[in-house]
Amino acid sequence: DAPILEARDLVKVFGKPQGLLNRNPQVQAVSGVSLSIRRGETFAIVGESGCGKSTLGRLLLRLLEPTSGEVHFEGRNISEVPSDKLRSLRRDLQIVFQDPFASLNPRMTVGQIVAEPIRLHGLAKGRAVRDKVDELLRTVGLRPDFADRYPHEFSGGQRQRIGIARALASGPKLIVGDEPVSALDVSIQAQVVNLLEELKEKLGLTLVIVAHDLAVIRHMSDRVAVMYLGQTVEVAEVDALYEAPLHPYTRALLGAIPVSSPTARRVREPLGGDVPSPTAPPPGCRFHTRCPHARTPCRETAPELETVQGDRQVACHFWREIAAEQGGALAAAT
Ligand code: SF4
Ligand code: MG
Repeated sequence: DAPILEARDLVKVFGKPQGLLNRNPQVQAVSGVSLSIRRGETFAIVGESGCGKSTLGRLLLRLLEPTSGEVHFEGRNISEVPSDKLRSLRRDLQIVFQDPFASLNPRMTVGQIVAEPIRLHGLAKGRAVRDKVDELLRTVGLRPDFADRYPHEFSGGQRQRIGIARALASGPKLIVGDEPVSALDVSIQAQVVNLLEELKEKLGLTLVIVAHDLAVIRHMSDRVAVMYLGQTVEVAEVDALYEAPLHPYTRALLGAIPVSSPTARRVREPLGGDVPSPTAPPPGCRFHTRCPHARTPCRETAPELETVQGDRQVACHFWREIAAEQGGALAAAT
């Protein structure tokens, strides 16, 4: 099957080139990411804060222009769509933001917020707009009479449902959730995750979930891309990733969550040190300053993202040796 969305060597640089009065040094937030997302899957992009995952999520929707590289949606290069022709793209590609407190206009009623995309895309007129808003609110588990109230009257979880209703209003094919539950109470997170899963099934959506926490996305994702300092270091089916992570960084991230599977041969490798500044990423493998397996070649040559089996990918010079040391973890994954 052709991918629904494909990123080809995406690069995004923020800031201006180094100069005397420049207080805003250049940051390469995304450094050559290629990804292929399948129709109907939930694809997670995971990494620590500052790894470029939110930037990547916005590049995928063309909410940000890449410095270089391309995004193809349903086979069409959307990087080439002129900015005055983006409307149909906006219909198909939507986003749910991390902070349901900041992302809803406090001066608009819930009904106005959800109706906005319906009007913008000319999907209904007059009374039919209100009917559609009622239906969308029910779809996300809210009462239609909430339409006349304002965002501040609602809890975080309810506001995120409003944000989801707004994202659904244009009838999108793909939704990016930028840490859609991380601002919510833990007790509410599962409800919103369940809602997203339900909606995906019911509406045939493709979901891209940006997250810093592997625990949150485990049960809702099909595949996961792990990012470190602007690059993808591992891509795998979710079970393979959890049972037998190949990249030392993935292993470290997993070491931070409780082992839930009795068969998982989880080797704990807690992550030392901070993420290096993205203004000056380390040479060679960007993870070498924190990697317990780093050797000389790691400091000199950047590992390629290599296809390991099927479409599983890893970027580490020594993944084979490390996997062998850890008791055939790769075999356990297959
Ligand atoms: Fe560690 Fe070297 Fe692999 Fe990078 S390439 S993850 S430093 S072993
Ligand atoms: Mg972010």
